[in-house]
Amino acid sequence: MAEIKEKIRSKKEEEKNSKENNNKKIINLIVISGPSGVGKTTIIKKILQDPELKDKLMFSVSHTTRKKREGEVEGQDYFFVSEEEFMRMVERGEFIEWAKVHGHLYGTSYENIKLAQKSGKLLILDIDVQGAEKVREKKGDSAIFIFIKPPNLDELKKRLELRGDTKDIETRINNAKKELEFEKKFDYSIVNENLEKAVLQVKEIIKKFINNNK
Ligand code: 5GP
Repeated sequence: MAEIKEKIRSKKEEEKNSKENNNKKIINLIVISGPSGVGKTTIIKKILQDPELKDKLMFSVSHTTRKKREGEVEGQDYFFVSEEEFMRMVERGEFIEWAKVHGHLYGTSYENIKLAQKSGKLLILDIDVQGAEKVREKKGDSAIFIFIKPPNLDELKKRLELRGDTKDIETRINNAKKELEFEKKFDYSIVNENLEKAVLQVKEIIKKFINNNK
Protein backbone atom coordinates (compact mmCIF):
# COMPACT_ATOMS: atom_id res chain seq x y z
CA MET A 1 0.00 0.00 0.00
CA ALA A 2 2.77 2.40 1.04
CA GLU A 3 4.62 1.50 -2.15
CA ILE A 4 1.58 2.27 -4.33
CA LYS A 5 1.07 5.60 -2.55
CA GLU A 6 4.75 6.44 -3.12
CA LYS A 7 4.42 5.58 -6.83
CA ILE A 8 1.34 7.80 -7.17
CA ARG A 9 3.17 10.61 -5.40
CA SER A 10 6.22 10.38 -7.62
CA LYS A 11 4.07 10.19 -10.77
CA LYS A 12 2.28 13.37 -9.68
CA GLU A 13 5.59 15.06 -8.92
CA GLU A 14 6.89 13.98 -12.34
CA GLU A 15 3.84 15.47 -14.09
CA LYS A 16 4.17 18.72 -12.17
CA ASN A 17 7.88 19.01 -12.97
CA SER A 18 7.22 18.21 -16.58
CA LYS A 19 4.58 20.94 -16.76
CA GLU A 20 6.97 23.38 -15.13
CA ASN A 21 10.03 22.53 -17.19
CA ASN A 22 8.97 21.23 -20.56
CA ASN A 23 8.66 24.24 -22.82
CA LYS A 24 6.63 22.30 -25.35
CA LYS A 25 3.75 22.04 -22.89
CA ILE A 26 1.67 25.16 -23.21
CA ILE A 27 -0.57 25.68 -20.22
CA ASN A 28 -3.79 27.51 -21.00
CA LEU A 29 -6.11 26.42 -18.20
CA ILE A 30 -5.67 27.09 -14.50
CA VAL A 31 -8.06 24.91 -12.53
CA ILE A 32 -8.74 26.10 -9.00
CA SER A 33 -10.72 23.69 -6.88
CA GLY A 34 -11.47 22.70 -3.31
CA PRO A 35 -14.47 22.60 -0.97
CA SER A 36 -17.05 25.33 -1.33
CA GLY A 37 -16.65 28.17 1.15
CA VAL A 38 -12.88 27.74 1.21
CA GLY A 39 -12.32 31.10 -0.47
CA LYS A 40 -11.59 30.10 -4.09
CA THR A 41 -13.76 32.86 -5.53
CA THR A 42 -12.26 35.55 -3.29
CA ILE A 43 -8.73 34.44 -4.18
CA ILE A 44 -9.56 34.41 -7.89
CA LYS A 45 -11.19 37.86 -7.74
CA LYS A 46 -8.04 39.29 -6.15
CA ILE A 47 -5.83 37.66 -8.75
CA LEU A 48 -7.98 39.00 -11.58
CA GLN A 49 -7.43 42.53 -10.20
CA ASP A 50 -3.66 42.14 -9.95
CA PRO A 51 -2.06 44.81 -12.18
CA GLU A 52 0.63 42.38 -13.34
CA LEU A 53 -1.75 39.56 -14.21
CA LYS A 54 -5.16 40.98 -15.07
CA ASP A 55 -4.48 41.42 -18.82
CA LYS A 56 -3.21 37.87 -19.12
CA LEU A 57 -6.09 36.09 -17.45
CA MET A 58 -9.76 35.44 -18.15
CA PHE A 59 -12.30 34.06 -15.69
CA SER A 60 -14.34 31.11 -16.88
CA VAL A 61 -17.95 32.11 -16.19
CA SER A 62 -19.81 28.88 -15.50
CA HIS A 63 -23.44 28.05 -16.14
CA THR A 64 -25.48 27.07 -13.11
CA THR A 65 -29.04 26.17 -12.19
CA ARG A 66 -28.69 27.53 -8.65
CA LYS A 67 -30.42 30.76 -7.66
CA LYS A 68 -28.51 34.01 -7.88
CA ARG A 69 -27.12 35.23 -4.51
CA GLU A 70 -27.40 38.84 -3.50
CA GLY A 71 -24.75 40.88 -5.27
CA GLU A 72 -24.07 38.31 -7.99
CA VAL A 73 -24.15 39.55 -11.56
CA GLU A 74 -25.48 37.54 -14.53
CA GLY A 75 -22.70 36.83 -17.03
CA GLN A 76 -20.03 37.94 -14.60
CA ASP A 77 -20.33 35.51 -11.69
CA TYR A 78 -22.38 32.89 -13.49
CA PHE A 79 -24.83 32.42 -16.31
CA PHE A 80 -27.97 31.53 -14.35
CA VAL A 81 -30.08 29.10 -16.38
CA SER A 82 -33.03 26.76 -15.87
CA GLU A 83 -32.50 23.02 -15.58
CA GLU A 84 -34.10 22.55 -19.02
CA GLU A 85 -31.73 25.03 -20.59
CA PHE A 86 -28.74 23.44 -18.84
CA MET A 87 -29.69 19.93 -19.99
CA ARG A 88 -30.14 21.16 -23.57
CA MET A 89 -26.56 22.46 -23.45
CA VAL A 90 -25.42 19.07 -22.09
CA GLU A 91 -27.18 17.28 -24.96
CA ARG A 92 -25.57 19.58 -27.50
CA GLY A 93 -22.15 18.77 -26.00
CA GLU A 94 -21.47 22.38 -25.08
CA PHE A 95 -19.71 21.66 -21.78
CA ILE A 96 -16.15 20.47 -21.34
CA GLU A 97 -17.27 19.38 -17.88
CA TRP A 98 -20.39 19.61 -15.79
CA ALA A 99 -21.41 18.23 -12.42
CA LYS A 100 -24.09 18.23 -9.78
CA VAL A 101 -22.71 20.09 -6.77
CA HIS A 102 -24.73 20.39 -3.54
CA GLY A 103 -27.90 19.61 -5.49
CA HIS A 104 -27.40 22.13 -8.32
CA LEU A 105 -25.93 21.79 -11.79
CA TYR A 106 -22.75 23.62 -12.78
CA GLY A 107 -20.83 23.49 -16.05
CA THR A 108 -17.90 24.99 -17.95
CA SER A 109 -18.66 25.69 -21.61
CA TYR A 110 -16.21 25.05 -24.46
CA GLU A 111 -17.11 28.58 -25.52
CA ASN A 112 -15.13 29.93 -22.52
CA ILE A 113 -12.05 28.03 -23.64
CA LYS A 114 -12.45 29.30 -27.20
CA LEU A 115 -12.82 32.91 -26.01
CA ALA A 116 -9.67 32.70 -23.90
CA GLN A 117 -7.69 31.11 -26.71
CA LYS A 118 -8.82 33.78 -29.15
CA SER A 119 -7.59 36.52 -26.87
CA GLY A 120 -4.39 34.67 -25.92
CA LYS A 121 -5.29 34.57 -22.22
CA LEU A 122 -5.03 31.91 -19.56
CA LEU A 123 -8.46 30.74 -18.49
CA ILE A 124 -9.11 30.43 -14.75
CA LEU A 125 -11.69 27.83 -13.75
CA ASP A 126 -13.34 27.88 -10.32
CA ILE A 127 -14.85 24.39 -10.23
CA ASP A 128 -15.49 21.53 -7.85
CA VAL A 129 -13.31 18.42 -7.61
CA GLN A 130 -15.53 16.31 -9.91
CA GLY A 131 -15.22 18.96 -12.60
CA ALA A 132 -11.45 19.13 -12.06
CA GLU A 133 -11.26 15.36 -12.66
CA LYS A 134 -13.10 15.70 -15.96
CA VAL A 135 -10.85 18.54 -17.11
CA ARG A 136 -7.84 16.39 -16.21
CA GLU A 137 -9.18 13.58 -18.44
CA LYS A 138 -9.79 15.88 -21.40
CA LYS A 139 -7.16 18.61 -21.11
CA GLY A 140 -4.78 17.40 -18.38
CA ASP A 141 -1.69 18.25 -20.41
CA SER A 142 -2.57 21.88 -20.92
CA ALA A 143 -3.92 22.57 -17.43
CA ILE A 144 -2.52 23.05 -13.98
CA PHE A 145 -4.52 22.04 -10.95
CA ILE A 146 -4.47 24.03 -7.73
CA PHE A 147 -6.29 22.77 -4.64
CA ILE A 148 -7.37 25.28 -2.00
CA LYS A 149 -8.09 23.86 1.42
CA PRO A 150 -9.33 25.31 4.71
CA PRO A 151 -7.11 25.24 7.82
CA ASN A 152 -9.77 22.92 9.33
CA LEU A 153 -13.46 22.02 9.02
CA ASP A 154 -14.59 24.30 11.89
CA GLU A 155 -13.15 27.26 10.07
CA LEU A 156 -14.91 26.19 6.86
CA LYS A 157 -18.23 25.96 8.72
CA LYS A 158 -17.75 29.47 10.10
CA ARG A 159 -17.07 30.82 6.62
CA LEU A 160 -20.16 29.16 5.18
CA GLU A 161 -22.27 30.60 8.00
CA LEU A 162 -20.86 34.06 7.39
CA ARG A 163 -21.73 33.74 3.72
CA GLY A 164 -25.32 32.97 4.65
CA ASP A 165 -25.34 29.43 3.27
CA THR A 166 -27.14 28.18 6.37
CA LYS A 167 -29.66 26.16 4.35
CA ASP A 168 -27.24 23.63 2.85
CA ILE A 169 -24.45 24.03 5.39
CA GLU A 170 -24.57 20.41 6.55
CA THR A 171 -24.51 19.15 2.94
CA ARG A 172 -21.56 21.39 2.16
CA ILE A 173 -19.57 20.26 5.22
CA ASN A 174 -20.27 16.59 4.49
CA ASN A 175 -19.25 17.10 0.89
CA ALA A 176 -16.12 18.95 2.02
CA LYS A 177 -14.93 15.87 3.90
CA LYS A 178 -15.10 13.85 0.66
CA GLU A 179 -13.66 16.68 -1.44
CA LEU A 180 -10.58 16.96 0.78
CA GLU A 181 -9.63 13.44 -0.28
CA PHE A 182 -8.99 14.72 -3.81
CA GLU A 183 -6.16 16.99 -2.65
CA LYS A 184 -3.46 14.46 -3.51
CA LYS A 185 -4.42 14.48 -7.19
CA PHE A 186 -3.61 18.16 -7.58
CA ASP A 187 -0.33 19.72 -8.76
CA TYR A 188 -0.39 22.26 -5.94
CA SER A 189 -2.17 22.51 -2.61
CA ILE A 190 -2.59 25.75 -0.72
CA VAL A 191 -4.06 26.31 2.74
CA ASN A 192 -6.24 29.39 2.88
CA GLU A 193 -5.57 30.42 6.45
CA ASN A 194 -4.37 33.88 5.62
CA LEU A 195 -6.03 35.28 2.50
CA GLU A 196 -3.17 37.56 1.43
CA LYS A 197 -0.66 34.73 1.75
CA ALA A 198 -2.86 32.32 -0.23
CA VAL A 199 -3.35 34.92 -2.99
CA LEU A 200 0.39 35.45 -3.18
CA GLN A 201 1.05 31.72 -3.46
CA VAL A 202 -1.48 31.25 -6.25
CA LYS A 203 -0.11 34.33 -8.03
CA GLU A 204 3.43 32.93 -7.94
CA ILE A 205 2.29 29.64 -9.48
CA ILE A 206 0.40 31.42 -12.26
CA LYS A 207 3.31 33.73 -13.01
CA LYS A 208 5.63 30.76 -13.35
CA PHE A 209 3.41 29.28 -16.06
CA ILE A 210 2.95 32.59 -17.85
CA ASN A 211 6.74 32.83 -18.08
CA ASN A 212 7.05 29.20 -19.19
CA ASN A 213 4.52 29.81 -21.98
CA LYS A 214 6.57 32.65 -23.47
P1 5GP B 1 -21.32 28.20 -5.35
O1 5GP B 1 -22.74 27.75 -5.45
O2 5GP B 1 -20.88 28.36 -3.92
O3 5GP B 1 -21.02 29.39 -6.22
O4 5GP B 1 -20.42 27.02 -5.95
C1 5GP B 1 -20.52 25.74 -5.42
C2 5GP B 1 -19.41 24.88 -5.96
O5 5GP B 1 -19.57 24.69 -7.37
C3 5GP B 1 -18.02 25.50 -5.79
O6 5GP B 1 -17.15 24.50 -5.29
C4 5GP B 1 -17.63 25.91 -7.18
O7 5GP B 1 -16.23 25.86 -7.37
C5 5GP B 1 -18.33 24.85 -8.00
N1 5GP B 1 -18.51 25.27 -9.40
C6 5GP B 1 -18.73 26.51 -9.90
N2 5GP B 1 -18.79 26.47 -11.23
C7 5GP B 1 -18.58 25.19 -11.61
C8 5GP B 1 -18.51 24.51 -12.87
O8 5GP B 1 -18.64 25.08 -13.94
N3 5GP B 1 -18.29 23.18 -12.84
C9 5GP B 1 -18.14 22.48 -11.68
N4 5GP B 1 -17.90 21.18 -11.77
N5 5GP B 1 -18.19 23.07 -10.48
C10 5GP B 1 -18.41 24.41 -10.43
